[in-house]
Amino acid sequence: MNTERMKSLGKKRSVIRELFEYGNKRKAEIGAENVFDFSIGNPSIPAPKEFSEELCRIITEENPISVHGYTSAPGDFFARKAIADDLNERFGTDFSADNLYLTCGAAASLTVSLSAVVNDGEEVILFAPYFPEYTVFAETAGAKIVTVPCLWPDFDIDFEKLSESISEKTAAVIINSPNNPSGAVFSEECIEKLGKILSDAEKKFGKKIYLISDEPYRELVYDGEKVPFVTKYYNDTIICYSYSKSLSIPGERIGYILVSPKNPDWKELYAGICGAGRALGFVCAPSLFQHMIPKCAKMTSDISLYEQNRNLLYGALSEMGFEAVKPKGAFYLFLKTPGNDAAEFCERAKKYEILVVPSDDFGMSGFVRISYCVSAEQIKRSLPAFKKLAEEYFR
Ligand code: PLP
Repeated sequence: MNTERMKSLGKKRSVIRELFEYGNKRKAEIGAENVFDFSIGNPSIPAPKEFSEELCRIITEENPISVHGYTSAPGDFFARKAIADDLNERFGTDFSADNLYLTCGAAASLTVSLSAVVNDGEEVILFAPYFPEYTVFAETAGAKIVTVPCLWPDFDIDFEKLSESISEKTAAVIINSPNNPSGAVFSEECIEKLGKILSDAEKKFGKKIYLISDEPYRELVYDGEKVPFVTKYYNDTIICYSYSKSLSIPGERIGYILVSPKNPDWKELYAGICGAGRALGFVCAPSLFQHMIPKCAKMTSDISLYEQNRNLLYGALSEMGFEAVKPKGAFYLFLKTPGNDAAEFCERAKKYEILVVPSDDFGMSGFVRISYCVSAEQIKRSLPAFKKLAEEYFR
């Protein structure tokens, strides 16, 4: 059973990867400038200059045996302490190095966390739209997926449906704010309410229900939007973070898991995280980038450029008649497909060399995801093509 599942996962690429590969093929055929590839969330803004300087300094000045060697399994103490200090300073929290486990990005943070908290046959609740890989990660940990659709138009949590969906089988709930693909950011009031519902459910069912907060886009917010720090609102929180997007280094594979010390059983949970990391082979995250953390934990790429892209794309597409909610964060625009058939819309878009991702794999029909972490020039060049597409629907 397991081998067959792995084969089918390997054979069937995610719809995002499929489009990305198609885009590469088209670019080779007709020239990169003629393909409007909005398929993948690969940052287009370089890492900060100070980041590159620190990388050079470490490689040239520090002891190579230590820089390229094994670290302790959960990560180097100084890297973990630097993260705890940074979070405490920014969010007024009280974390220590012992609450942190360094990983190869958010994907590893999620698979390790889910393995640590899910027993076979338990359930994991996802809010749709969600990052498609959650289903793969949760099912691999032995969970059954329960989906709770978010409310249109703001993509807020449907608390009534959530309450109906929680049961004695619920092991974890995953949230992702700022959200891929909707760009929504949950408000403080929303997180507070979520925390209250989960606390009540823990009492009712006499068990832990973990809130796994997947936060690779935490720093990518616009118009002064604030992302509530989730451990303040719910003790059984696990934060899965990644530097992939904030520092534009997705290929370097570095991130962390944070367990909240406000959970009275956090040491047991942390032992489970270490055990899952060991069982899955995710010990000792990339050492070079652990060395980078003390200097770089606070840095971000120039996020204002994504904000400009958002304004440009959202403004132009709205003017053409398309409907979307203005994203508050991340770098995706979730566009309602006129006609409600996302797959058909994507095929029509391809005729104009526009590559966008249909929403069905995000657990929701009738939308497409447009990744605007591309150059502003690409967005500008794509607008006449979008206009032709709009004319097909709105003339
Ligand atoms: N979670 C979400 C919501 C994402 O969008 C991504 C990547 O795009 C990941 C997790 C995985 O992040 P990483 O590249 O750090 O593993």
